[in-house]
Amino acid sequence: MNVHDSERLSGLLEDAGYVKAGQDGDPDLVVFNTCAVRENADNKLYGNLGQLAPVKSRHKGMQIAVGGCLAQKDRDTIVQKAPWVDVVFGTHNIGHLPALLERAAVEKKAQVEILESLETFPSTLPTRRESAYAAWVAISVGCNNTCTFCIVPALRGKEEDRRPGDVLAEIEALVDEGVIEVTLLGQNVNAYGSDLGDREAFSKLLRAAGQIEGLERIRFTSPHPRDFTDDVIAAMAETPTVMHQLHMPLQSGSDRILKAMRRSYRQERFLGIIRKVREAMPDAAISTDIIVGFPGETEEDFEETMHVVREARFTNAFTFQYSKRPGTPAAEMEEQVPKAVVQARYDRLIALQEEISWEENKKQVGRTLEILVAEGEGKKDDKTDRLSGRAPDNRLVHFTKPAEPVRPGDMVTVEITYAAPHHLLAEGPVLSVRRTRAGDAWEKRQAKPAAKPAGVMLGLPGIGAPASLPLAAPAGGCCGD
Ligand code: SF4
Repeated sequence: MNVHDSERLSGLLEDAGYVKAGQDGDPDLVVFNTCAVRENADNKLYGNLGQLAPVKSRHKGMQIAVGGCLAQKDRDTIVQKAPWVDVVFGTHNIGHLPALLERAAVEKKAQVEILESLETFPSTLPTRRESAYAAWVAISVGCNNTCTFCIVPALRGKEEDRRPGDVLAEIEALVDEGVIEVTLLGQNVNAYGSDLGDREAFSKLLRAAGQIEGLERIRFTSPHPRDFTDDVIAAMAETPTVMHQLHMPLQSGSDRILKAMRRSYRQERFLGIIRKVREAMPDAAISTDIIVGFPGETEEDFEETMHVVREARFTNAFTFQYSKRPGTPAAEMEEQVPKAVVQARYDRLIALQEEISWEENKKQVGRTLEILVAEGEGKKDDKTDRLSGRAPDNRLVHFTKPAEPVRPGDMVTVEITYAAPHHLLAEGPVLSVRRTRAGDAWEKRQAKPAAKPAGVMLGLPGIGAPASLPLAAPAGGCCGD
């Protein structure tokens, strides 16, 4: 959600006449889009701001803006601690950034504007998509749950659903521009509809998106086990363009700890969902988030988590050692687990999950898969003369570069020959190449970099392409950040 917000910030600023700054020289504007779910988010922010103070003093007219969850939380504190910041804006008013920057320049004083609730659904704002072939589409923002470790409800507010017609219109517009893969986004994506009074709204939305001609891959993140109903499983299984990939946050396998976390499902329900998903889609790749060392977690509780991991056989898991997030109920709980105990449990969990990930990946060897060629996914591609992309279930595949030109957004068919715990290799020749509209769109972008009337140079911290989900799992183990 945060990455997609950054795309919106880029779009807004480009519309206002800013252009992306190059690597050399000092930018005229730096925007921090902060995430309070991350561990040490505040230390990192103030460290970065400290480094920028001398840059700003030598670069006349430079502006610094801080937005996102941490800005929503810290508000005035930011300009108290770093008085050289020009604008502080929250999660509900990102559309105001250009106006706030202007006001700060005219009034020569910091502008702090935090709204308590959303004014406009953020996807109606201009967006500068980082990828030509894959896009995020927000269907809801906020969350009605109150997980005790999570800061999201406090900072993103109650769930607000976007109307299905607006979501589908945005997807159609993206497909017209060449996008062939979309990821539907929500803090609690499958609760979609609670705001619209329709409990099956999410499965209906999946089916309706599946009707959009030209759209080849639909994903979503992140669902909550509580709201994961049978109609969603049926829609996934019966809609050919909905990929058989599911990121389902477990957080803990212990019923006692789930209760303390205020997560309303229990181990039996979680494993029941996994069973049903596998019955309907035997090839489904299921990943998860797990928190180790939540306050009060005993060895028995941890063993329950290990049990679920053995049973569920996740393709991969984003594992986190619990750490306090100020402002959350869990941060006040007694019985915080000693660091050494958490570390030892964490190491055991990682070892088990690595073994399972590798075993599950080995089952892919010998399979023929269609890969969506990605940009920037294979760090060693140049050295190894390979390209990289994503299988339908989102596994990362590195494959031999074919003789004919292949562009990000094109599709290739390959046979998997080797499995590592976190990627697959196709070492033989590419079996076929399918040039796509997405590849054309990518090529067009390369030929014509967006030219805008140069006004102000924009320095926006780098943001990634949305092809690799789950992109970056939350340090606090939150569902959908
Ligand atoms: S962890 Fe997920 S479901 Fe729980 S409060 Fe945070 S965003 Fe909502």
